[in-house]
Amino acid sequence: MKVPLLDLCPQYNSLKDEILKEIAEVCDSQRFILGAKVEKLEEELKIYCQSAGCVGVTSGSDALLIALMVEQIKPGDEIITSPFTFFATVGAIVRAGAKPVFADIDPVTFNIDPVKVAEKITPKTRAIIPVHLFGQSADMDPIMELAAKHNLFVIEDGCQAIGAEYKGRRVGSIGDYGAFSFFPSKNLGCFGDGGAVTCNSAERNNLLKIYRNHGQSGTYIHEYVGGNFRLDALQAAVLSIKLRALDSWSGGRQRNAAEYDELLKGLEAKGVIAAPKKAAYDVRHIYNQYVIRVMDGKRDALKAFLAEKEIGCAVYYPLSLHLQTCFKDLGGKAGDYPVCEKATSEVLALPIYPESTSAQRQYVADSIAEFFAK
Ligand SMILES: *Cc1c(COP(=O)(O)O)cnc(C)c1O
Repeated sequence: MKVPLLDLCPQYNSLKDEILKEIAEVCDSQRFILGAKVEKLEEELKIYCQSAGCVGVTSGSDALLIALMVEQIKPGDEIITSPFTFFATVGAIVRAGAKPVFADIDPVTFNIDPVKVAEKITPKTRAIIPVHLFGQSADMDPIMELAAKHNLFVIEDGCQAIGAEYKGRRVGSIGDYGAFSFFPSKNLGCFGDGGAVTCNSAERNNLLKIYRNHGQSGTYIHEYVGGNFRLDALQAAVLSIKLRALDSWSGGRQRNAAEYDELLKGLEAKGVIAAPKKAAYDVRHIYNQYVIRVMDGKRDALKAFLAEKEIGCAVYYPLSLHLQTCFKDLGGKAGDYPVCEKATSEVLALPIYPESTSAQRQYVADSIAEFFAK
């Protein structure tokens, strides 16, 4: 049996006719940049994310950057984020000219620990970027309290968590901004790169639109220096169709996760692995990834064993960001973020995509058991 980490073909095949029809419409119009399809998608995403505004952009990376640009981030500003995230979260902070400051993560959720955030706030701190990693919300209440107390703004990195909820609220509607990615492997993926920014006010929505188009407030009138962060109509057309199926896909991921939880119980009781855990606070976890911990330094050996069995698995992420060469000047060293560093050595993502089958999960669980019985 083969179990790919992700197979996008079944979802494409289920929507193929509708999608190709929409794509043909865009081609017939020969209008590819912004326009009605993008506006329609923005309205749908705004409702889906329960936010006051939503602006389509080029990628999740640019969604983070444009929010920082709108807030006029400048050199010397400090922005607190997680060291356990995809590179783009921290890359955006540096691209905006600010200094990333890391706060260690919570061992259960892998998300930034609000107590550690509080310790990192200085007079230079301007913003906090919590990341809702693997599809589960960070603990937003204490983060928003800190932001209110210290007059900081908050960008939720929801790139892996569209539709996830924190205490009944959708991610992207809690902070001042939410960044979303439509990279093909995200829960809502387009046919290339794409992204969106949600925001909590009409003013911010208006500024995001201006910054997205080179800071243009009127035809060839530039109030700010923005960039080309425009989402294209083809991607928007694909996303509008896929968005209708997103909740059923998220439901499939949740069912698959529950099945794994059952299948892995025995191994967990032996203490050789740990299945992912839900947060202590109320969440809707949408499982962009199902990430186990592998104990006793066996993660890489298990990964190689599963690869031999044609089971796709991946390590998100193998190196804490404070240890990346490009951030050397920030002075991070091994031991600075022990919870994150332990996670980087233990985590392993298993196939969880909605259309994967129970038989495939059984094979994955049996193969892991076989590895530990050796
Ligand atoms: C994917 C991702 C991004 C970047 O999104 P792109 O669309 O690939 O630019 C940012 N943050 C996190 C946490 C992500 O997973």
